[in-house]
Amino acid sequence: MHKKTALITGSTSGIGLGIATEFAKAGYNIVFNGLEANGEQIAQEIGKTYQVATKFSPANLLQVSSIQGMIMEAEATFGVIDVLVNNAGIQYVAPIDEFPTEKWDAIIGINLSAGFHAAKAVWKGMKNQNFGRIINLTSAHALRASEFKSAYVAAKHGVTGLTKVLALEGATCGITCNAICPGYVRTPLVEGQIKDQAKAHNLSEEEVVNKVMLKKQAIKKFTEVHDIGKLAVFLASEAAQMITGTSIPIDGGWTAQ
Ligand code: NAD
Repeated sequence: MHKKTALITGSTSGIGLGIATEFAKAGYNIVFNGLEANGEQIAQEIGKTYQVATKFSPANLLQVSSIQGMIMEAEATFGVIDVLVNNAGIQYVAPIDEFPTEKWDAIIGINLSAGFHAAKAVWKGMKNQNFGRIINLTSAHALRASEFKSAYVAAKHGVTGLTKVLALEGATCGITCNAICPGYVRTPLVEGQIKDQAKAHNLSEEEVVNKVMLKKQAIKKFTEVHDIGKLAVFLASEAAQMITGTSIPIDGGWTAQ
């Protein structure tokens, strides 16, 4: 049996880095991707720490040819991508009448379309070996809406639909596809949102954390990146072979309401 390989988009920061670390701990080869300047260094350090092979791709997910190139290079190095985690995402918060068109396009491009292009590119390899795991990082906002987040909520709801379709198409060839739906996780993306929301709601940053963000969660705590990573590793395991097409909240009870 070959050692399994996981490609995680947007894995040189935040949740993606947490997921990559958990897959490395579990012994997977890791393909890192992200726009951070220290991506190569992160990949090397994780490889050294957990004694696994790693590779870094700076592919910009807004370009289809870059996504395809990243996956071709990863397959040339590791043979096949066993696990694809579509994690990269961006956010922008503004009322609909002020929402910049280019922000809408970028959010749909990175949060929704990139996952389609990546899944399409890994599909043949997964199908040929009759095994594959596709895990999409959506959000509680794939299941619920909040004001001022038109593009993000639309993109994440779109990924919920894509997840179900890939689950159906993968059912006869050993490929499962599931979505993980976090509530608030304290990462650079959320740090940015705290500032934006403070402006949009005319509140202090502390008030945004307590009154806006965690207001919707029954458990008043941010989710930790390693908790999400452990769930992703479980979804990639043999034990999760019958779990497909699902959206699993890890949101402190937000969507229980
Ligand atoms: P983050 O900003 O810390 O990391 C995002 C990663 O995506 C970075 O590595 C960045 O370089 C990469 N990225 C962005 N644009 C890219 C592009 N064009 N090409 C390649 N890479 C690109 O964000 P995060 O909070 O870790 O979010 C990760 C995922 O989790 C996102 O899909 C986000 O929507 C989702 N999510 C986050 C939270 C949260 O509270 N942080 C909650 C729910 C869902």
